[in-house]
Amino acid sequence: MPDGAFRAAKKVFCDLFQLVFPDECRVCGESLKEVSRIPVCRRCLREPAPLIAEYYCVACRTPFLNRFPLDESGRCALCRLGLTGFDAVYSYGSYEGALRKLVHVFKYQGVRTLARPFGDFLACVLPREERFDLVTPMPLHWRRRWQRRFNQADLLAREIARRWNVPARSVVRRIRATSPQAGLTNAKRRANMRGAFSVKRGVRLDGMRVLLVDDVLTTGATASACARVLKRAGAAHVALLALARTDRRTMSIQPLAEAAGSGKV
Ligand SMILES: [Zn+2]
Ligand SMILES: [Zn+2]
Repeated sequence: MPDGAFRAAKKVFCDLFQLVFPDECRVCGESLKEVSRIPVCRRCLREPAPLIAEYYCVACRTPFLNRFPLDESGRCALCRLGLTGFDAVYSYGSYEGALRKLVHVFKYQGVRTLARPFGDFLACVLPREERFDLVTPMPLHWRRRWQRRFNQADLLAREIARRWNVPARSVVRRIRATSPQAGLTNAKRRANMRGAFSVKRGVRLDGMRVLLVDDVLTTGATASACARVLKRAGAAHVALLALARTDRRTMSIQPLAEAAGSGKV
């Protein structure tokens, strides 16, 4: 048998084998007992819990260890200075443990079927009474999108849009590839994001309530740059919805680059 044909036959056999015999959970490594479109066991899918903290900023919902970073009205320094650019933030869990591993499987191993269970997480933190006119994903620079072949935020945006019965449309472009944010201070992150986004040609959002969706929220510098561009295009209200956020309360005991996540830009 020619080498090429042998390899093709082997591939067909392997694909069939994968179909019939489920593989291992991509998070904990246990062998999967049932065939599913999601190669993650039920326990790992159920594991991520909503983030709970005693102290939150009332505006951006950033968790804190104590109330010292908050002023009398309950706002953090960034919100006090009007630096966030968005009007509300909703996020599900802390970017660690099982949720962090699941996000990695989703993004870097390309397991797009995780979008559906992630949609359930997002739906449980977004208040049902919140009304939006448009759901839009945080854009990736085209080069990164080309490498990854999909924008993870886009899949999440579509999940939540379907559940809220709101159109999902990508209206922002990333016009500049930015250097990784990990390890930068808050001020440097904001400077790094300047001029990184623009709305697509012909987009007007006059008076619209926009929900901006991303997978991981770190300091919010990227999201606030994107929110500003949406406001400049006329949006009246921009809320941010993220699957996970890095928890600043744990930053002091973790190396900063590790806590800041996956070199997210
Ligand atoms: Zn597992
Ligand atoms: Zn705040």
